[in-house]
Amino acid sequence: MEKLAEQADARFFLFSDDKVLITAGADARAAHERGVARDVDADLAGAVLLGFEDGAPRIAASGRLPEEAGALDVVDLRTLASEARVSAADLGALAQARSLLSWHQRHGFCANCGARSAPALGGYRRDCPSCGTHHFPRTDPVVIMLPIDGDRCVLGRQYRFQEGVYSCLAGFVEPGETLENAVRREIREEAGIEVGAVAYHASQPWPFPSNLMIGCFAEARSFDLVREVEELEDVRWFHRSDLPAMMARTHPDGFMVPPSMAIAYHLIKAFADGA
Ligand SMILES: [Zn+2]
Repeated sequence: MEKLAEQADARFFLFSDDKVLITAGADARAAHERGVARDVDADLAGAVLLGFEDGAPRIAASGRLPEEAGALDVVDLRTLASEARVSAADLGALAQARSLLSWHQRHGFCANCGARSAPALGGYRRDCPSCGTHHFPRTDPVVIMLPIDGDRCVLGRQYRFQEGVYSCLAGFVEPGETLENAVRREIREEAGIEVGAVAYHASQPWPFPSNLMIGCFAEARSFDLVREVEELEDVRWFHRSDLPAMMARTHPDGFMVPPSMAIAYHLIKAFADGA
């Protein structure tokens, strides 16, 4: 990695305490030149190779904020995604980078024998020098779904949501479970209804720290909602005709859906558009 980092065309995606360093100003960039990596004391021993662009290495590393931070902004990745200040390609690289760097931070020791492990394969594996076990970064699957019945769908509201926001139901896939059964179980637990057919729609990596959101539609077979009170402040049916105003945040009752960076928005939009 140190050798790749010496290449003049190497570019660095830099983090400080889980936050992203981007160039200040309107035309923000997340990919920095070597000099910037040096200025923030980028930790190259713990760096991750994200890939190559036209032969030039793209490297993710943690660093510290320079004393004179004028040229750089420190931004939370979620904020960066919602504000669309950098390109979609850079956001993808930052998501990959954050997920991997955070895995290294949290997995410094072998889960098999407890010895300190070391990064290998450009940061895509950790090897244990004591027992020889290879450890790989994990991705945790989360199902996120829209139960539907004709022209209506179920949305729920978590306690922590901004006022008026309703979103898709979601939950972790359990060991040994199919995606379809995870969707059915989560809907039963959170909304108290049964669903039959489950159809995959799209997915979204969610690097906080390492989830993969798997978006599905589910056909309702029972219809009387019973809210899971620990998790949800409200759960209700919405008519398809309510959704465009909720997406535009102009609904007369103040109902809204999450912003377009979230896969929930795209599931809801697909249904609103007639999926
Ligand atoms: Zn070990």
